[in-house]
Amino acid sequence: MHYQVAIIGAGAAGLSASIYARRAGLSVAIFEKIMPGGQAATTPDIDNYIGFPDEISGMELMERFYNHAMKFEPELIYEEICSIDFDAVPKKICTDNKEYTADSIIIASGATPRELGVEGERRLRGRGVSYCATCDGMFFKGKNVAVIGGGNTAAEDALYLVNLCEKVYIVHRRDELRADKSLVARVLDCVKIQPVWNAKVSEIVGQDSVEGIVLDTGEKLDVSGVFVAVGVTPSNCLVRNVLELDGGGFIITDEKMQTSVPGVFACGDVRNTPLRQVITAASDGAVAASAASEYVRDNVEKQVSE
Ligand code: NAP
Repeated sequence: MHYQVAIIGAGAAGLSASIYARRAGLSVAIFEKIMPGGQAATTPDIDNYIGFPDEISGMELMERFYNHAMKFEPELIYEEICSIDFDAVPKKICTDNKEYTADSIIIASGATPRELGVEGERRLRGRGVSYCATCDGMFFKGKNVAVIGGGNTAAEDALYLVNLCEKVYIVHRRDELRADKSLVARVLDCVKIQPVWNAKVSEIVGQDSVEGIVLDTGEKLDVSGVFVAVGVTPSNCLVRNVLELDGGGFIITDEKMQTSVPGVFACGDVRNTPLRQVITAASDGAVAASAASEYVRDNVEKQVSE
């Protein structure tokens, strides 16, 4: 099958891009390997997406994005992409058992939670070590848990977990959180959250499940769950050796979301952006789709008519 625009990823950026591309009259395929919604769908409450002053869960907001995008009938293809030939004309996208072509590609593959990289983390993943408080929090009802990190994710995770857990430690390597001020105030005001400042996790311990964490200060915290929230790693494996990336592996784009390869655009958390929010991902998607539409009109349709 051939599409004028292929979008890789159905998170906030990809879904937004699909709306703008479909409304520009282009044929659109969105490739998604798991389920639409991306990282935002795992966020407990979002209270900085304009138009939703009463907070909305990430899951509900992403359902709305999905339903809105589907109204314009893009092709949603639940397949994992193995490789992309960016030099081919048209560009070639290979999944496990199929091949697709596209005039332009929008990379909206997002980012995944970063690992701490400490002893016990991988062994106890899914047995007390989690990267998603909304997904796994309920397994720790009435128990003591630790959230690691000092950003918005860590603060929001801690605030979500206090509703379920007996006590929530927030372990941070500095003496203050870097999360938004309103979140910081709520964390510090909450008696069930105990900050542990200037400490890094050196080991996660436990036989078959998490029994505690050892800190580089020598302290040991007895917890049944560890929620790692120390930032994100870009999902760039399909483009790593092709597109220009920054030092952190994020795709470099210009203001039109154009990458180093003509006709290939990137938007949302996978690109080098100063702010990774739902609103910026959605905005990036709109810009990328409008640039892709321009590219198809100026480069592809023109060639065909010549
Ligand atoms: P982040 O803002 O990059 O924060 C990561 C935190 O983890 C930082 O406090 C960092 O410490 C700490 N950290 C990093 N590596 C570490 C390590 N190896 N050991 C211990 N601590 C480590 O990541 P995030 O909170 O996941 O947020 C990612 C992006 O999504 C951000 O742009 C954020 O604003 C956005 N986001 C927004 C919302 C919202 O607005 N509702 C919610 C969630 C996420 P330092 O402070 O020392 O660097």
